[in-house]
Amino acid sequence: MSLFRSARISFDHIAGGAAWVAAIFALGLGDGLAISSAHAAGGVVESRTGTAPDRYVYYPGTEELAEGEVRVIACGTGMPDQRRGQASACFLFEFGNGEKFIFDIGTGSMRNINSLMIPAEYLTKIFISHLHTDHWGDLDALWAGGWTAGRPVPLEVWGPSGQTPEMGTAYAVDGFLRAFNWDYQTRAFKITPLPGQIKVHEFDYKQENEVVYEENGIVVRSIPAIHAGDGPVSYIIEYADLKLVFGGDTSPNKWFVKHAKDADFVIHEAFANPDYFLNDYGQPAQLAWRACCEFHSSGPSFGKVMSEINPGHAVGYHTMEEAHAQLLLDIRTTYDGPLSIAMDMMTWNITADGVTERMAVSPDRASGVPGPTRQPPPDPSIPNPTSDFIRSGEWGPGFNAQNEMLDDFRDENGLADVDWRPAKPWYEPN
Ligand SMILES: [Zn+2]
Ligand SMILES: [Zn+2]
Repeated sequence: MSLFRSARISFDHIAGGAAWVAAIFALGLGDGLAISSAHAAGGVVESRTGTAPDRYVYYPGTEELAEGEVRVIACGTGMPDQRRGQASACFLFEFGNGEKFIFDIGTGSMRNINSLMIPAEYLTKIFISHLHTDHWGDLDALWAGGWTAGRPVPLEVWGPSGQTPEMGTAYAVDGFLRAFNWDYQTRAFKITPLPGQIKVHEFDYKQENEVVYEENGIVVRSIPAIHAGDGPVSYIIEYADLKLVFGGDTSPNKWFVKHAKDADFVIHEAFANPDYFLNDYGQPAQLAWRACCEFHSSGPSFGKVMSEINPGHAVGYHTMEEAHAQLLLDIRTTYDGPLSIAMDMMTWNITADGVTERMAVSPDRASGVPGPTRQPPPDPSIPNPTSDFIRSGEWGPGFNAQNEMLDDFRDENGLADVDWRPAKPWYEPN
């Protein structure tokens, strides 16, 4: 940590690897940017049996946050067509007071969040910038996946209104729960109902820097964004004298420039240029130069915004990694301050002393980590969603084949009172 702890980072991190750093040098960008390949490789090994404590790596679950510290992990940085190596927009904010907020939960991002091995009961507060699926499409995975992984309480979603009620967050979540009604009813019966609820806090998308959340020393404010239609917002987060900004999709807008000014840490979208969308992304030219640059922010526009607000550290996202090198060139035409172009699992620690950046290294096959709270048992008042017709199809020999295994489990866990088998017509105890 100490390697990076020194004040604001003055070098670029893109793609987090020496190859990219080399590419930047090849592009002639190294001049004056103090890029060091040592930073990208990380750590110094002093002996054959030594360790490298300052590696460019964050191992989830191994570091307690200090009071007044915030850790931000990019859990999705790409485009709506999420891919295995890059999910759609999602940033996890972990605060020194124990709170954890998810800012946008784009498609595919839950795979990254789950790899951080955080108990599901701590992942209940979601702030949505706008209702494009690449910013909330994985709510289903958190909702149902967290339910099965032991979350004992409902989710809470904060999000903007729209020009009409049908364009707002409350309508979207209501529709979400209708779409997943079968999922809800069956899990509510089999597991427990409460974690299937979603409490919505919808606020006026037009409000400017008004408080949408205030609790436990954290204040979250919203400002309007300009993107595709009325409704999108960006969030300003205040905690322990730190000001952090999470920008959802937006073209350059006056509210962001005004209210993100001098923030310690500012996330804002940064799109690849029209040539990329035309030549590498399959968009027609008439769309390519509007998608990047009318309802999103291109590299030069992102840089202009950052030059104006002068953040402690700027983070750009929403670009495929293979376009990062060009995006960096585009940004550097208008901004020369501290900068990261985010890739999935990039991790920042933010304190009053400055910002550090590493990559989170986490397992592909992490499974649910239990927290201290146990889910309540099933609610007996909920009707069984399986009819007698379907139950009459249960094939006894298949069920009875597992009796020995289940008898052992029953005895080991004291489940004699709730043995579900004796009521079945096919049950043949050993
Ligand atoms: Zn969008
Ligand atoms: Zn987007």
